[in-house]
Amino acid sequence: MGRTVIVGNGVAAVSAAASIREVSQSEEIIICSAEPYLAYYRTKLSNLLGTIFSPPEIFIYQPSWYEENRIEVMLGQIVKKVNLKNKEVITENDDNLPYDTLIITTGGSPRLPRIDGLNKHGVFNLRTCEDSFKIKEYGESRQDFIIAGGGVLGLEIAGALKKWKKNVKLLVQSNQLLTRQLDPEAAGIIDGMVREQGIEVYYNSEAAEISGSHKVNGVYLKEGNLVSGEVVIFAAGIHPEVGFIEESHILGKAGIAVDENMRTKDPNVFAAGDAAEFQGIVQGRWPVAKIQGEIAGYNAAGREVFYLQIPPYNLVQTLDMQIYSVGVVSNENVEAFSSGNSSSGFFRKLFFSQGRLVGAILIGDVAYSYVMKEAVSSGNDYSNLINNRTYTEEIISKMVEEYQSRNRSI
Ligand SMILES: Cc1cc2nc3c(=O)[nH]c(=O)nc-3n(C[C@H](O)[C@H](O)[C@H](O)COP(=O)(O)OP(=O)(O)OC[C@H]3O[C@@H](n4cnc5c(N)ncnc54)[C@H](O)[C@@H]3O)c2cc1C
Repeated sequence: MGRTVIVGNGVAAVSAAASIREVSQSEEIIICSAEPYLAYYRTKLSNLLGTIFSPPEIFIYQPSWYEENRIEVMLGQIVKKVNLKNKEVITENDDNLPYDTLIITTGGSPRLPRIDGLNKHGVFNLRTCEDSFKIKEYGESRQDFIIAGGGVLGLEIAGALKKWKKNVKLLVQSNQLLTRQLDPEAAGIIDGMVREQGIEVYYNSEAAEISGSHKVNGVYLKEGNLVSGEVVIFAAGIHPEVGFIEESHILGKAGIAVDENMRTKDPNVFAAGDAAEFQGIVQGRWPVAKIQGEIAGYNAAGREVFYLQIPPYNLVQTLDMQIYSVGVVSNENVEAFSSGNSSSGFFRKLFFSQGRLVGAILIGDVAYSYVMKEAVSSGNDYSNLINNRTYTEEIISKMVEEYQSRNRSI
């Protein structure tokens, strides 16, 4: 055993560190963190927006965990370069840190459009605690917010801003909300619920320029019209944070390319989380980063474990809505069953392909999300169940019964 250096300090990093320590008591583990805090629940930042909080409240592990597990964390240390040939990591202070094994978990950076005016006062992203503090400080005395992005993060930020009693306008590039999680029918229901909360939604709207002399006073759309607002928050996805890697042979199309052991083309280098690309895909999701981190750690420490792609799933709880989505939710080449409507705030839709559940959407009541997730992951054949049945609720009841009998009790 030797020294493992982990670059980045999010959930993938601490999961990797925990796995290494499980396998080996003697491996030296060093985490290099650009941020000045121990790893925290980044997903909580959206709900906390507009509130006063201190990072330790959302730490994944308290300082004692690092001490007990002998994990050294170098806070505020940006890695500017990795030298794979010499097996060393170089920090911004020009410190060289040799490694035997390297795990890269540098996450993602917010994707920003290439438009004029991004440097004006009042333009933000939400990725770190610092971002949250800056938005709180600037936004406290301002009322009109624009969010660019109609995905999960955009809606979560909208929910937090409403609790903060702000006016919210949502710019959505496509023609529906939650494009990755919902089909147009379900998105239509969510649109109604979002507007009911006083949020203005602009579809097919792409930011073209930030308006204002020094401070933001609105966003010009590609179509030329101006949407007014004092604060703009971009929530339009991420790109993997891999700019510091010069050796391109470990890179894929977007992130660091890894195999099912989370190993790169360099046998001593692993990657996990939002920085990693598996089978050409960067998932950008918390549960994936956690599992990938664990798997990278095990393999780095010599215990071979394989990563299996899990179907994408999301639970969105914001603006008094509960939305669960799993798998592929496209209406093409599927047999779809739905129940509920916008007036009840209750909706469920199942997407079957050749008898197999490939996707599901639950709005309002998400109690059976685990049944849907298992059904999509397992690839079980439900042909018998859906043949001759037209009532969605009946199909769901049968699926729950089958799930219960398989798992004895819920
Ligand atoms: C507000 C918000 C809400 C979210 N909500 C959800 C949700 O509801 N569901 C969901 O599945 N996902 C959600 N996500 C996404 C989820 O948080 C990420 O997928 C997850 O945090 C990725 O973990 P990671 O460890 O790969 O990277 P990160 O958590 O991004 O951590 C990477 C760390 O590496 C550091 N770093 C980067 N470059 C360097 C460098 N050169 N040197 C040293 N350190 C470096 C970064 O500063 C950062 O601390 C949300 C994200 C945000 C921002």
